[in-house]
Amino acid sequence: MGDATRIIVVGGGIAGLTAALSLHAAGFRPTVFEAVARPAPLGVGINLLPHATRELAALGLLDDLRRIGVDIGALVYLTRYGREIWREPRGSTAGYAWPQIAVHRGRLQMLLLEKVLERLGADAVRFDHALTDFDPTEGGVNARFVGRDGAPRGGEAADVLIAADGIHSAVRRKFYPDEGLPKWNQVTLWRSTAKLRSYPFPGTMLWAGHSRQKFVAYPIEQDPQTGETLLNWICDLKADGGEMPAREDWNKAGDPNDILGPFANWRWPGIDVPEIIGAAGGIFEFPMVDRDPLPRWTFGRVTLIGDAAHPMYPIGSNGATQAIIDARALAYHLRRASGMDAGLSAYEAERRDATSRIVLMNRAQGPDKVMDLAQDRAPDPGDDLDARLPHSERAAIAAEYKKVAGFDPAALNAKPSYAAVRD
Ligand SMILES: Cc1cc2nc3c(=O)[nH]c(=O)nc-3n(C[C@H](O)[C@H](O)[C@H](O)COP(=O)(O)OP(=O)(O)OC[C@H]3O[C@@H](n4cnc5c(N)ncnc54)[C@H](O)[C@@H]3O)c2cc1C
Repeated sequence: MGDATRIIVVGGGIAGLTAALSLHAAGFRPTVFEAVARPAPLGVGINLLPHATRELAALGLLDDLRRIGVDIGALVYLTRYGREIWREPRGSTAGYAWPQIAVHRGRLQMLLLEKVLERLGADAVRFDHALTDFDPTEGGVNARFVGRDGAPRGGEAADVLIAADGIHSAVRRKFYPDEGLPKWNQVTLWRSTAKLRSYPFPGTMLWAGHSRQKFVAYPIEQDPQTGETLLNWICDLKADGGEMPAREDWNKAGDPNDILGPFANWRWPGIDVPEIIGAAGGIFEFPMVDRDPLPRWTFGRVTLIGDAAHPMYPIGSNGATQAIIDARALAYHLRRASGMDAGLSAYEAERRDATSRIVLMNRAQGPDKVMDLAQDRAPDPGDDLDARLPHSERAAIAAEYKKVAGFDPAALNAKPSYAAVRD
């Protein structure tokens, strides 16, 4: 096993590129096939929780992450009136051995790409190759690709195929042809960034409102000299009975007028939501979707990772983190197992149930549940929140989510990283 094993990674997003780096660190030489013709830093903010930064640190990327992102030291939940429901330390401030870093998704993707090309060579990523189909072979797989122009790009034989092709995964569709579209919970997200001269809550993530109307903000770039901050923000609105958009597109342009009305009075000391919306660059509109957990990820020598395996609601900040952990776990097991089949089985055994639980917990609002409880039990600014929502209940919600999502501080610090036990 090792360099001679032919591994195809389908998709050069966060999961696929981390898989390529991890497989390389484990002694393999995979090739990534990416549908887009030219890489571009798309998206807005994402969070990397300590169980992901630990793995990226093992790949030697922590200094780069700190250069392009912002260390997050606190998470604060507010009511729609700006009253504090819950506050907790995050990242190193919470005693984790690794930081929590908020970063622009596109900048993270470009960093991972740069490292793949540097470490694996310029031919390790083939752009303009969209996977269309594949067939199992004796002990392997044959994959077929097309370019953006629809012209066939030929076939490729491999010992293992890793599907990191996102929420609309063509590989997943082949295994589950009747699954259909992702599931929408009737919440629409408007996502953007705003450049602020300063942000009064450095290193802090703010979550305000409840599951029918929510505002989320956190810094993803901060100039240490001037304090100028690029603030990532999201407005969520639930519209009962709305039509599911034809297809979820991360880059669909959103209209600020759809949110300025509903959020007109969302102003609290230090935060003026309408002003932030007004200062936005391009706004993107996206439905909050996920998919049901699957009974099986691995078929022969093909397996799923990241959003192809377990797309989840952006609640609890776990999407990119879990994709990174999948990539690391897969490389680890392929390296350690007695053969590829055993490695794929060990990967799925470790990751499938674990991520299914997070998908389901996010459907039930995950840690944001505390916001709905505050809204239900103390909807008016004058209501006695402390009497109606005991602090111990809030603490239990936060702790339970961390346990399920794999970032309970003590357990995480005690667990070895996938790299530590690799060789
Ligand atoms: C353009 C874009 C913008 C995003 N913006 C945000 C954001 O702002 N905030 C956020 O929280 N999450 C965002 N996401 C989603 C986020 O990246 C994922 O939820 C998470 O990081 C898991 O990553 P992934 O690699 O599994 O999936 P993705 O990041 O979605 O990557 C999948 C990759 O596979 C490629 N691909 C798809 N089909 C094929 C095919 N048939 N053949 C070859 N390649 C294929 C895609 O082009 C993409 O590069 C975005 C995703 C994309 C694609």
